[in-house]
Amino acid sequence: MNVQNLIIGAGPAGLAVAGRFRKAGLDFEILEQTNKIASKWHTHYDRLLLHTVKSLSSLPHLDFPPDYPQYIPRQQLVTYYENYAKHFDINPHFNCEVTAVLKKNGLWQIECTNQKTFEAQNVIIATGLNRIPNIPNWKGKDIFEGEILHAASYKNPLKFKGKKVLVIGMGNTGAEIALDLAEAKIDVGISVRSEIVVVPRDFLGRPIQLTAKKLAKLPFRLGDVIGALVRRITFGNIGKYGLPVSKMHPRILIQEQGRTPIIDLGTIAKIKKGEISVFKDVLEFHENTIRFADNKIEDIDSVILATGYYPAITKFLENTDSVLNYAGEPANKVAKGEQKGLYFIGYDKFTLGGILGTLKNDSALILKSIKNDSV
Ligand SMILES: Cc1cc2nc3c(=O)[nH]c(=O)nc-3n(C[C@H](O)[C@H](O)[C@H](O)COP(=O)(O)OP(=O)(O)OC[C@H]3O[C@@H](n4cnc5c(N)ncnc54)[C@H](O)[C@@H]3O)c2cc1C
Repeated sequence: MNVQNLIIGAGPAGLAVAGRFRKAGLDFEILEQTNKIASKWHTHYDRLLLHTVKSLSSLPHLDFPPDYPQYIPRQQLVTYYENYAKHFDINPHFNCEVTAVLKKNGLWQIECTNQKTFEAQNVIIATGLNRIPNIPNWKGKDIFEGEILHAASYKNPLKFKGKKVLVIGMGNTGAEIALDLAEAKIDVGISVRSEIVVVPRDFLGRPIQLTAKKLAKLPFRLGDVIGALVRRITFGNIGKYGLPVSKMHPRILIQEQGRTPIIDLGTIAKIKKGEISVFKDVLEFHENTIRFADNKIEDIDSVILATGYYPAITKFLENTDSVLNYAGEPANKVAKGEQKGLYFIGYDKFTLGGILGTLKNDSALILKSIKNDSV
């Protein structure tokens, strides 16, 4: 099939581009490896609400329904994405996993697992930062007799009743899963390797995300100082609970390192109450125990790996040196030179306000760039 514009991935990022293209009257096809719109949001854990505020998380040209709450629950978000696809007549080729994107004679050739092939002038890659779960290897992991699952497969605390659970990794996902388990009165610990930066989701009844955007505009880094004060007032000295705390300001963590601070929903309070234990980095697994960096050994029944994901773009895209950085993530949103005609959306971790907050601007940028090239 020959098309002008081909979008890979029908998650929020792919939908944002498709919505813009439809509105602007540009032809496109969209490929999706599963049989669902916004597939990841169908499978994330049950209790998940957006951590980012409603006003900064919608897609172009269609706001969330007015009765949606400030922090949108996963299921309502799925409904919104499905309605978005209907509204803009977005009909992905489902069960079409792209396995190869290569340039031949100036055009992009795209191959899918279901034998479908496409030829396109422009390819918009929207396959997500969270494509493949990152599953680290530890000494003894294979002999561990308990269950080990990645956070991508965690749903709710039900099957962990009566077990001693270790969550490995304290990013937003690990912190929330540990909270979910602790609220269900499950014996849970969290292993924290890297220094953490924690912010409250709300302060004095106002979303911290909105406050942070305002503070970032203040001169002389005054916003960072006020932010530090807010964190001190909210959490106190959390270092004394065994948490390795970074002194870095959340704004700098995001804008310079592309790392998201932990948006606390109650995990810190549970740690302070001793309802979530804190452990050091994992050193090795034994049959029924785990040894940590401080040589402490704990009995553990189940392990949940909140150890992140890979975008894994190199699995289907060749000659990536000029378009991906050392971490395998797109260095730019619009490719140039030999790779001209390639666009990336949903990979910008360096902006205050979350990935969803980047999609409106970045889909507009892609539309503009494609329109400019076609005149
Ligand atoms: C638990 C969790 C909570 C999050 N909460 C927030 C939040 O509150 N606010 C925020 O701003 N961000 C949040 N994010 C980050 C980000 O906004 C989401 O991951 C969002 O879904 C990213 O959208 P996306 O379209 O880029 O990627 P995805 O949602 O991952 O969608 C990519 C789509 O591409 C498909 N695909 C992948 N590879 C191929 C292929 N080779 N061929 C065809 N199709 C393919 C996938 O099946 C998927 O449907 C969260 C992430 C996670 C994991």
